[in-house]
Amino acid sequence: MKIIHTARSMAAWSERLRREGVTIGFVPTMGALHDGHRSLIRAARLRCDALVVSIFVNPTQFSPTEDLAAYPRPISRDRALCREEGVDVCFEPTALGMYPEGFQTIVTVPALGRRWEGAARPHHFAGVATVVTKLFGIVQPHLALFGQKDYQQAALVRQLVDDLNLGVGIHVRPTVRERDGLAMSSRNVYLSHDERRIAPLLSQALRIGRQMIVGGMSDVAAIERTMRQTIEQEPSIHAEYLAVCDPDSLEPLSVVAARAVLLGAVRIGSIRLIDNLLVNKPDGKSRATR
Ligand code: AMP
Repeated sequence: MKIIHTARSMAAWSERLRREGVTIGFVPTMGALHDGHRSLIRAARLRCDALVVSIFVNPTQFSPTEDLAAYPRPISRDRALCREEGVDVCFEPTALGMYPEGFQTIVTVPALGRRWEGAARPHHFAGVATVVTKLFGIVQPHLALFGQKDYQQAALVRQLVDDLNLGVGIHVRPTVRERDGLAMSSRNVYLSHDERRIAPLLSQALRIGRQMIVGGMSDVAAIERTMRQTIEQEPSIHAEYLAVCDPDSLEPLSVVAARAVLLGAVRIGSIRLIDNLLVNKPDGKSRATR
């Protein structure tokens, strides 16, 4: 496996392979790799001839009060996982390499980035959209893989690829979970023993919401209230948002439609966790509120 640190060498590698007709798959990450990342890498491996994983803790998607400095960076372990999964290139740019002095272009996706994570973390999605655009420009992949775990992020990336004609296929993979339902996340290592015990309440609340919808409930306020109550049975978890939304626009629904996404974010101590579930009503129609 090659380890590449500069945009110039990365682009040269990709250009050479593209000229030879090799298809390039790409999995952008911030490292601290777990089985969620591994599932994206494996899915890319199956679909492409060559595979690039980037490991870059992107400073512009963190606010000054967030955990940039503390974000886990187990680089040797990450490289070992990439080698194990047959990754061809681990692209590890530096912050200065990505944002040299004089850098000024910012990519924003205003409507999709406004609510939920965008409201909780005001500069987050501009940081994400900008770095993804840059990484696509450097790596020039045919296909890039993202996790449903970050649902809003995946929606935003799809939109920006369409809007800017970036010519990169986007494939979104299901969320990989721990046995108790907690969505895998690099930030789970921050949870204390007690916090880890209650963290699965977020996925439980979303599952309860989904059951209500599948069972025919279409009263969004009642569904959201039940999800919140599920979380708040534990005083040390605070529900930031639990919402029933349109799966494409991410706008909140007032009545459940045939398809919906349940989006949730909670705070446990100083740690924020997010999760989501897609819902397809079996009959594809809204039924009366029960
Ligand atoms: P991150 O390193 O957190 O920036 O995540 C890199 C990619 O892995 C993003 O596309 C995430 O959505 C995806 N990802 C993170 N956690 C999971 C998970 N539990 N299951 C599937 N994909 C995930």
